[in-house]
Amino acid sequence: MPRHASSSRASELELLRERRSRERGASWAGRPASVALAYPSPYRAGMSSLGFQTLYRQLNEDGLPVHRAFLPDAWEPTALPWPQPRRPILSYETERPLSEYRVIALSVAYELEIAGVIRMLDGVGIPTLAADRGPRDPIIIAGGPLTFSNPSALLPFVDVVIYGEAEDLLPEALRRILDTRRRADAIASVTTLPNTTAGERAPGSWPELPAPAVADKQRLPAYSAILSPDTELADMFLVEPERGCSRRCAFCVMRRDVVGGMRLLKRERPLSLIPEEARRVGLVGAAVTDHPELEPMVADIVNSGRGVGISSLRADRLTPRLLEDLRRGGYRTITVASDGISQRMRDALDRGIKEEHLLSAARLIRAQRFPRMKIYEMMGAPGETEEDVDELIRFALELAKIQRIVLTFSTFVAKRNTPLDGQPFVGVKQAERRLKKIRAGLKGKVEIRPQSPRWAHVEYLLAQRGPEAGHAALRAVRAGGRYADWVRAFAETPVTPRALRFGDEAARARRKGKAARPRRWLPVVPAT
Ligand code: SF4
Repeated sequence: MPRHASSSRASELELLRERRSRERGASWAGRPASVALAYPSPYRAGMSSLGFQTLYRQLNEDGLPVHRAFLPDAWEPTALPWPQPRRPILSYETERPLSEYRVIALSVAYELEIAGVIRMLDGVGIPTLAADRGPRDPIIIAGGPLTFSNPSALLPFVDVVIYGEAEDLLPEALRRILDTRRRADAIASVTTLPNTTAGERAPGSWPELPAPAVADKQRLPAYSAILSPDTELADMFLVEPERGCSRRCAFCVMRRDVVGGMRLLKRERPLSLIPEEARRVGLVGAAVTDHPELEPMVADIVNSGRGVGISSLRADRLTPRLLEDLRRGGYRTITVASDGISQRMRDALDRGIKEEHLLSAARLIRAQRFPRMKIYEMMGAPGETEEDVDELIRFALELAKIQRIVLTFSTFVAKRNTPLDGQPFVGVKQAERRLKKIRAGLKGKVEIRPQSPRWAHVEYLLAQRGPEAGHAALRAVRAGGRYADWVRAFAETPVTPRALRFGDEAARARRKGKAARPRRWLPVVPAT
């Protein structure tokens, strides 16, 4: 082994052991397992994922031992030279190489993590394409939030995909695999489960994407297994007082029609799960501020001497009592979403947020002496014009007279399972031009924090295409993973015509016994 490889192995192992020594909570270290739960982003992100932590805990508690593995910290999902530096990926429980597990279950949060999947498989020496794997290779199962929208670009790399909430399906899938000797038979057995498909076993083979599964309410709530200071939400115990959302924002895959509405738990249940040693508690869910017991739940946590965090706050649900408790619970910045950049756009997106809600939120936040209010904006949604940009500038300046404002900007990406599926991307140049105009119009009176429209463009290309997007991703990653590499890889990849089954319409039509009305497929916007 070359010297640099052995020293990188030592430092990776040191880091793993340091992190493990700082973990508190459940421990299955040393117990053998045939299954590794792998996260295609580094430890910091993976251990902040409530879904990842929950499946890890649930499977181990249910007598199905699983280990954890993560993308090495040095392997950024973008812009890494190829071939990537050699680094081992070892499980956190027994330091066993990932490639030696019989099953690797990947949790993929969103499109850009597909680059992490490629790096991970390639880095540990497993054939990257499912079609190239043989009888002795591990079986790769994928699931996670990406499967609520369009995981087609993942299909070339995985043997099985479980769509939606995996708490009921993954244990059964793993049992079937572990009970079946031949790899091909095991995959065939698993893919007869509902909400499950095979990956791309031969180039061009493409399953119809099923609806996402909805887990039995008995499985709820999800909650952390392990507390660690080395995560993005350092040492925060995460628990889910509700799952899903009863609203219908037109851009969102967590909308009512996809996840079947909101599943609420009485506050006693999540509160009873908080371990004695947890000093901070994060309430996680698509629509936590719609929970009817949110105020007393936050008050109970803060009154127990703990800090508190909430995954999303709605401007129209803030109250003086809630804000006071959030301040006592350690909040410094209150973040709410506007999404549409003008009232016309918020209405078009069915966001249900009005100017008066944002104005009232700013006044309440000032009254509680928070240093700043952060607002999520999403630019480039279909139909957005220069007038909407002008209104955003005017309104942000009005808000800034009440309270210090920070605007964060993402760029709209159309997703499957939403009414806006198939809508075009605004274009990188157009998004950058609008951001420039906004920055100039705000004259430094409002801070702005934009996310890169370039990576939103890559996300869009992956979100709107079929498995051929996975092959483009493979070329892009191997070329270095810079934005230009992605654009070039997609420009060279012919668009595969695909069945028009991206939204809810086909499934809904089938349920009603009607024929689905074919939708016109909008072309993917070329590189800008
Ligand atoms: S954006 Fe939020 S409120 Fe709207 S549907 Fe999604 S989760 Fe619900």
